[in-house]
Amino acid sequence: MKIAIIGAGSSGLTSIKCCLDEGLEPTCFERSNDIGGVWRFTHEVEDGRASIYESVVSNTSKELMCYSDFPYPENFPNYLHNSKMLEYYRMYVDHFGLLKYIQFKTVVLSVQKCSDFASTGRWSVTTEKEGTQENVIFDAVMVCSGHHSEPHFPLDSYPGIKQFKGQYFHSQEYKNPTEYKGKRVVIIGMGNSASDIAVELSRTAAQVFLSTKRGAWVIRRVSDNGYPSDILHNRRFYIWMRNALPSDLVMWITEKKFNQWFDHANYGLQPTDRTQFKEPLFNDDLPSRITCGSVLVKTSVRKITETAVQFEDGTVEENIDVIIFATGYNYSFPFLDASVIKIDSSRTYLYKNIIPPNLEKATLGILGLIQPLGPIMPTAELQARWITRIFKGLCRFPPKNEVMDDIEKDRKIFIKRYGTTRENRLQVEFIEYLDSLASDIGVKPNIWYLFLTDPLLAMALCFGPCTPAQFRLTGPGKWPQARKQVMTTWDRIIKSTKTRTVKSKGPRFVTATRLLAALCLVVLLLSIFVYQSK
Ligand code: NAP
Repeated sequence: MKIAIIGAGSSGLTSIKCCLDEGLEPTCFERSNDIGGVWRFTHEVEDGRASIYESVVSNTSKELMCYSDFPYPENFPNYLHNSKMLEYYRMYVDHFGLLKYIQFKTVVLSVQKCSDFASTGRWSVTTEKEGTQENVIFDAVMVCSGHHSEPHFPLDSYPGIKQFKGQYFHSQEYKNPTEYKGKRVVIIGMGNSASDIAVELSRTAAQVFLSTKRGAWVIRRVSDNGYPSDILHNRRFYIWMRNALPSDLVMWITEKKFNQWFDHANYGLQPTDRTQFKEPLFNDDLPSRITCGSVLVKTSVRKITETAVQFEDGTVEENIDVIIFATGYNYSFPFLDASVIKIDSSRTYLYKNIIPPNLEKATLGILGLIQPLGPIMPTAELQARWITRIFKGLCRFPPKNEVMDDIEKDRKIFIKRYGTTRENRLQVEFIEYLDSLASDIGVKPNIWYLFLTDPLLAMALCFGPCTPAQFRLTGPGKWPQARKQVMTTWDRIIKSTKTRTVKSKGPRFVTATRLLAALCLVVLLLSIFVYQSK
């Protein structure tokens, strides 16, 4: 089967590899001249390609944010600068020999159903390279073009912006702080771009104002005992507990945990709608910049004049030099017909967040069009493993009524958890989503069975971080090193920070106590399980 892959970023690269694993023939079209997608920093903003600032560091840590059968070199830090991410992608491409499947500087102009689509599911793909157009028929298409290339730049909602005499632009154009030294800067929005840029500018700008409509919770990269925060939070056990407990209690516990570091209300950051879970900010420095006064949190903007910004609370900040709209991104697929995928402002409904539901044949998938509350890379990889097996008929694609029911069920859960805001529209729950794809493929580890056959591994899967290698322990694509990879996660996390050897003080009885506590929990869980299955 010939597969067209659109984009050679983190989703596209793993899609090529997954196609090869399944014996499919991939051709990847990449509009730029290099791999890496959003993670490849350039000083210029390239049309149609996501653009990052020079200092971007990943906000999920390397043990989670990796491909499942290709760990990072052990000397890589826990959180990775964009240059390290790109280095990793280059290693992945070299290791699995992916480069020869990529056609660079090739823009996909259109992807259209062939006239015999209802029986063959084939697609006609038209591309353009250096002025020459080509049309090729493919058996299936994997769209991996990302969702951070089109800035959401809502100027119409800002009365007076056209009269503003200073500089204003979208965060996509921000590269580094040098030219803003000594300036008074307003940043609009409260996502990770806004908070990163605010912190960076606050060290040299005269004053930074951070304007938010909804606020946000802020999470440290470095969490309890110095471990990466995502490693501590992304555990199956927590998800089970969260689903078992009343949602108000979960919210109360979560807020307590968030406010342990600093009280978000006292810093003007507390989210306005606490029932709808907005993506948190990952920023170790923001509260410190606020408490030092170099970042001032403001309400949303009411009006802009030639030199000033007036906020909803009536306050006015004069002599503003720069306004940065860190207002996020839109996505679109200009090469696809609206009958294939319909994008509406709140959410695009796809089966398993991948396949448009109204196709006669499931031969097209949108990968990485998702914002998991966890890392995107292993998520996109599992999506690629899932859809390549759908293409081959090795995974079941249900009939249309089941597909629609599934989408509707997902929609209800989604709205309950995340509401209907534009910014939340791509969110999914990381572990639940991975487990659902893994079940279909047959690679979800059977934890209860493992408690009998390999209890240490079962404990790691229950109470440890949900690392990608867990989906290589069993089933198709099994990787012989997966168990070792799972069991040595903590060693690698520590190794990357403990670059100076010091004598460890950890008394043995602490480990023993933890083991005992974990055993008690297992017994408790097993009893609940046995009780429920009666
Ligand atoms: P984003 O997460 O979509 O946040 C944009 C923010 O702009 C919203 O939270 C909202 O904040 C505000 N906003 C949206 N529409 C607006 C409007 N019409 N008027 C005024 N304000 C509006 O965008 P982003 O921060 O650019 O991040 C995009 C993605 O990249 C996210 O998934 C993020 O996690 C990721 N990212 C990662 C890193 C990293 O790894 N280090 C760095 C940057 C971004 P309010 O409602 O509070 O005003």
